[in-house]
Amino acid sequence: MTDGVQELLLSRIRDVPDYPKPGVVFKDITPLLADPKAFTALTDVLAEGCARHGATKVVGLEARGFILGAPVAVRAGLGFIPVRKAGKLPGATLSQAYELEYGSAEIEVHAEDLQTGDRVMVIDDVLATGGTAGAAVELIRRSGAEVAGIAVLMELGFLGGRARLEPALRGAPLESL
Ligand code: AMP
Repeated sequence: MTDGVQELLLSRIRDVPDYPKPGVVFKDITPLLADPKAFTALTDVLAEGCARHGATKVVGLEARGFILGAPVAVRAGLGFIPVRKAGKLPGATLSQAYELEYGSAEIEVHAEDLQTGDRVMVIDDVLATGGTAGAAVELIRRSGAEVAGIAVLMELGFLGGRARLEPALRGAPLESL
C-alpha cells in the first residue's frame, strides 16, 4: 500500500469522542464508505492481501466486517462467509463464546460454510481487545479450516489486542492498514 493510499484512508476515518459511552473514541468509517475512491482503494488493498496469503474464503465479522469483506471477496474472486452475533443465522451453526469487559458474547457461523482445506481471511474494521477476532479464529479452526490471516483497517494498539491474539494465530499474519 502506498503512503498516498494510507493517507487517503486515514483522512476518511472520523473520531467520535465518548461514543457509544464516555471515554470511548469511536472510529467511524462511514466517511470512507461514502468516498468511492477511498472505498475502492481499501477494497483493492484487502483483496491483494487475500491473494498474497493464499486465502480461499473471506470471513466478515458483523457488522462492519460485512461491509468491507463482501466487496473484498468479490474483488478477490472468493466466497464471502458472514460470522454473526448469536441467534441470527438460520441454519446449523458452530458457536464460540468470548469474554467482554463486563460479561460475555457469542458469535456463530453456518457449519456448512467452512471445511477442511479452506484458508480463511478474516476481515473487520477495528481490532480493539482482539476478543471478537480471537473467537473467529477459534470458530475457523473448529470447522477444520485454516486461518490465512486477519486484516483490519485499524488496530487500537493501546488495548493490546495483537499480543492477546498472537498465540492463537500460530504464525498467521495480523495486518492492520
Ligand atoms: P474487540 O473484540 O474488542 O477487538 O472489538 C472489535 C469489534 O468492536 C469490531 O467489530 C469493531 O467494529 C468494534 N469496535 C471496538 N472498538 C471500536 C472503536 N473504538 N471504534 C469502532 N469500532 C470499535
